[in-house]
Amino acid sequence: MGLSFTLLGSGSSGNSTLVSSGDAHILVDVGLSGRETARRLREYGLSPERISAIVVSHEHGDHCRGVAPLAKHLGVPVFITDGALQASEMRLDPRKRQRIESGVPFDVSGLLFTPFAVPHDSVDPIAFRIEKDGVKIAVVLDLGYITNLVVERLKGCDAIVLESNHDINMLRVGPYPWALKQRVMSRRGHLSNDVVAEYLGTRFDGKARHVILAHLSEKNNLPELALLSARKALEQRSRLLANQTKLALASANQISTAYCY
Ligand SMILES: [Zn+2]
Ligand SMILES: [Zn+2]
Repeated sequence: MGLSFTLLGSGSSGNSTLVSSGDAHILVDVGLSGRETARRLREYGLSPERISAIVVSHEHGDHCRGVAPLAKHLGVPVFITDGALQASEMRLDPRKRQRIESGVPFDVSGLLFTPFAVPHDSVDPIAFRIEKDGVKIAVVLDLGYITNLVVERLKGCDAIVLESNHDINMLRVGPYPWALKQRVMSRRGHLSNDVVAEYLGTRFDGKARHVILAHLSEKNNLPELALLSARKALEQRSRLLANQTKLALASANQISTAYCY
């Protein structure tokens, strides 16, 4: 049956990824408002009523904003850690809440989710590998650096959605107050284009057909810069690798194409 996914939006204004297989349609994070998420789903051609579940990575607003309203409206289960639920102060119907824990795989409508810990300044931040019928994809947003665990979990994936948040020079001279710059740059902040390039150039296993650069900062990055540094890293490593792994960008305001496997 395979697996497909689409980014409904990605960036500091809101992150949400639709992962589908057959009749199962799962939202990983709902950082846009419930209303805007429903609008983008319809634009994509899927009635919001067909959503089966919501899975949450961490409590920051750009990942959680629409979770409670949409879950309530659609009456679907929400898979979320204790830490994220408490920190978010979301009110969820207790009968619809599903407790998850980093390192403990769980099933959502026949899709196997493996949540793993990432370094980020929230209570219990996790990222996901998602598998169905031998197809594996990963959604890895909001992390300060790429740990060995992240490298392991990304191995063998057919597609990787990976944060490429900022260009380090744009961040340094950009408009953010110094404390916020420090936070973004820290090991519990966000990935720079350089860190992504270092990963693609040295530790990436080259298996993925698509690497989608996501969560780009509107103030501290440019799509061309993120793409260029990632492409250079793949090309320097091997022309073969650069040919077989396609790079793409996720946008804050537009639905991505559908990636199907
Ligand atoms: Zn975050
Ligand atoms: Zn975020």
